[in-house]
Amino acid sequence: MEHCAAPLTADCEERDRLAALAGLAILDTPAEREFDDLARLAAAALRVASAAVSLIDADRQWFKARHGIPFAETPREMAFCTHAVASRSILVVPNATLDPRFSANPLVTDQGGIRFYAGVPLITSSGHCLGTLCVFDPSPRQGLMPEQEAVLRDLSRLAVDLIESRRYRRMGEIAAKVVNATSDAIIAVDRQGDIVYWNPAAEQMFARRAEEALGENVEIIIPARLATGHREVFARAAAGGATRLVGTFIELTGARADGSEFPVELSLARWGENDSEGGFAAIVRDISGRKSLERDRARSQAFLDTVVTNLPAMLFVKDSESREYVMVNRAAEEVIGRDADDLVGATDRDLFPAYGEAYEQRDSEAIVVGRPHVFESAFVRDDGETVHLRTTRSVIDGPDRPSQYILGVAENVTETRRAEAEIVRLAHYDPLTGLLNRTSYTDRLHRLVQEAASFTMLSIDLDRFKAVNDQFGHSVGDAVLAQVADRLRTSIQPTDWAARIGGDEFMVILTGKKLRERAQTVAETIISRVAEPVVTDRAVAHLGASVGIVVMPEDGTTTAQARENVDLALYRAKRQGKGTVCFFNADMDAAARDRQTLEKDLRAAIEAGDITLAYQPVLSAETGQITSAEALARWTHPARGPVGPDVFVSLAEESGLIDRMGEQLLRRACADAQSWPVHVRVAVNLSPLQFISGALLETVRSALDRSGLLADRLQLEVTESLVIRDVERTFEQLEQLRALGIQVLIDDFGVGYSSLSYFQRFPFDKVKIDKSFVDTVTTSRASRAIIQSIVGLGNQLGMGVVAEGVETEEQMRLLVECGCTHLQGYLFSRPLPLRAMQMLLESEKSPRTSNIPAAR
Ligand code: C2E
Ligand code: CA
Ligand code: CA
Repeated sequence: MEHCAAPLTADCEERDRLAALAGLAILDTPAEREFDDLARLAAAALRVASAAVSLIDADRQWFKARHGIPFAETPREMAFCTHAVASRSILVVPNATLDPRFSANPLVTDQGGIRFYAGVPLITSSGHCLGTLCVFDPSPRQGLMPEQEAVLRDLSRLAVDLIESRRYRRMGEIAAKVVNATSDAIIAVDRQGDIVYWNPAAEQMFARRAEEALGENVEIIIPARLATGHREVFARAAAGGATRLVGTFIELTGARADGSEFPVELSLARWGENDSEGGFAAIVRDISGRKSLERDRARSQAFLDTVVTNLPAMLFVKDSESREYVMVNRAAEEVIGRDADDLVGATDRDLFPAYGEAYEQRDSEAIVVGRPHVFESAFVRDDGETVHLRTTRSVIDGPDRPSQYILGVAENVTETRRAEAEIVRLAHYDPLTGLLNRTSYTDRLHRLVQEAASFTMLSIDLDRFKAVNDQFGHSVGDAVLAQVADRLRTSIQPTDWAARIGGDEFMVILTGKKLRERAQTVAETIISRVAEPVVTDRAVAHLGASVGIVVMPEDGTTTAQARENVDLALYRAKRQGKGTVCFFNADMDAAARDRQTLEKDLRAAIEAGDITLAYQPVLSAETGQITSAEALARWTHPARGPVGPDVFVSLAEESGLIDRMGEQLLRRACADAQSWPVHVRVAVNLSPLQFISGALLETVRSALDRSGLLADRLQLEVTESLVIRDVERTFEQLEQLRALGIQVLIDDFGVGYSSLSYFQRFPFDKVKIDKSFVDTVTTSRASRAIIQSIVGLGNQLGMGVVAEGVETEEQMRLLVECGCTHLQGYLFSRPLPLRAMQMLLESEKSPRTSNIPAAR
């Protein structure tokens, strides 16, 4: 309700009055008997035609009750009562026609209009004048008798009472409706605690009907176990003492008729005015729904907390203004290496003097960008460990303002980065030796060549490494390589590079000044260091190294040239003997080109079948008879003339033509031998490389099959260096060949590194003493001794001993004396074309020629 401030103006007073009238909610309500009775009583008591309870509204007068009045309202300006209300005192008009205020009023001038009027203002207890109780009559009167005025005043007081009680009644009705309709239980008790009121909601809530509850003590709504406590509180409150129960809502436990309990919220009010009557009224609300909602919420909150805590990614929340940490999860504690307590409430600047500013800078950027912002950074923890973090920052709204928080999720990518670094390392370095690998060597070489930089490249080849690897196995081989790599590393300067580009192939690249001199020194250092014994836990290896060197850009302008030329230099170094350094020079290049054309021609010659065989007889020292003939390859180059087998056989070996050529010659030898007397065998030389492909056995078998030559007429000559790769597999193949019935000879015996242990592993049929011993047999006692011991070995093992390269009678005599079983050499015959060989064998059937020695 609107109240006006003093000093009160008429306007203000009127507004107040109208508000009071509206507040009573009486205007335009239906007729009520009590008011009608009052109007009728007034008319009767004053013997007038009409009476009314008139209320003055803003622009009308409205009759709450009317007697003898046909209309329900009039305009306000017509109303006589307006004047009574304005003056707040009784108004009596004896004859309206004579009163200038009313004489023109249509209510007066109409036929049978008003003459007499008397109205008493209706003033409420709050002092507002609402209208009047008034009477009218069509006849004029003298005025009002005092007892009449007294009646009218009494009745008007009654009318005011009626109006005011009507208001309370109405409020009571509303309250009752509310109380009946509400879902809250409303319970009133007296001072003894006995229930005097129990609304329908209470019936529902406590499962007790009103008649069951009324008169019972209020303890029936409290769990028995709490009753004692309740009793004390209630007694204190009833005695007028302070209780926290009055005026506030508190949470308690209620009990239903069946004893089941439920959470309630309760508010108490005192009721009653004096000590004798009154008590407490309680509003009780069942909050089990809210409680379970709260429980659910608490549970989901707890669940969320668990999720956040256990999130495998680091999570943090900072205040976007203060930049203080508001929250961190466990992963964050672990990654940062500090407790949440140390972090929350602190800023990055406080926590990490070295990084704080950068972190805040990133926060600021995230705020400006407004989208999730990703950064990666390395961070050194208190314990010294470096952690790589990939952090996504988002700006989120908070309850207090937009963009209130910075939410960060950081992934610990330390392992990933470490793995990536490892991959890079593996991509660039050889895992065994830690030197650069082939790829990165190629890259660097390429770069240097492109830049036309001055550098020298050293190609290093290990001597005897293959033997070490074969003899001791790969693990020893690996250990040896690792040590060699260390020796290389310590032979160069930090600005130089060393790479391992193949099994035992190493490269060193030197840059800087005085390259040629330095290359020479480094190469010599490497050679001398590699020559020192390499001690591993299982073996001691004695290696050597050869070094080829190119000086760029003098020796080439492309990487291909650099590589080819360094290969040539190395090749030359190896040819010159172990432990040699060789610089590339242009002559080598020419030689290399020459070799390339020759290789091309050889390939064509093999395809065309131009490689032929010459046969050199081998004689029995005992009978002087030819027992076999050795097949020796011959090639006459169309332009260059005859090319020695030493040259083209090794060319075929180096260019991968050896298998093809070997097979061809084997077939031819077998076929040729078919035309010889059956006691004459044919000996075919094999390259060690022919044992690698694994096809040898099949090649030999098919050569025999095609020619029809019996296996026991074929001899195969292998050298001491036949074991190149796999000892086991080589001997296995020899066994298989021998199982066919073929004889196997060991050629060039006494040079090279083959060991006598070969004889342990395989029973060779014959040993061919190397020509160098035969050459010196007449001059060197050592040679003779060696030959004698080979013969001794042959006797012991049942092997024939062949002396080859016999050129003189003197040699022959000594060799026979030493006990050689077979002889071969120019003394008897040079290698002959097939035709000549056949003729020789023919002639043998007839009396022997003078060249052939007599048997002893
Ligand atoms: P080798 O197997 O030791 O053959 C013996 C070499 O000594 C032959 O040389 C032969 O002509 C030569 N020779 C024989 N008697 C005398 C002599 O009294 N005085 C001198 N100074 N030399 C004599 P050739 O034919 O030049 O063959 C050289 C090497 O080439 C052979 O040595 C063998 O290792 C290889 N070779 C030849 N033909 C073949 C072949 O068909 N296959 C394979 N894999 N290697 C072959
Ligand atoms: Ca031979
Ligand atoms: Ca030989």
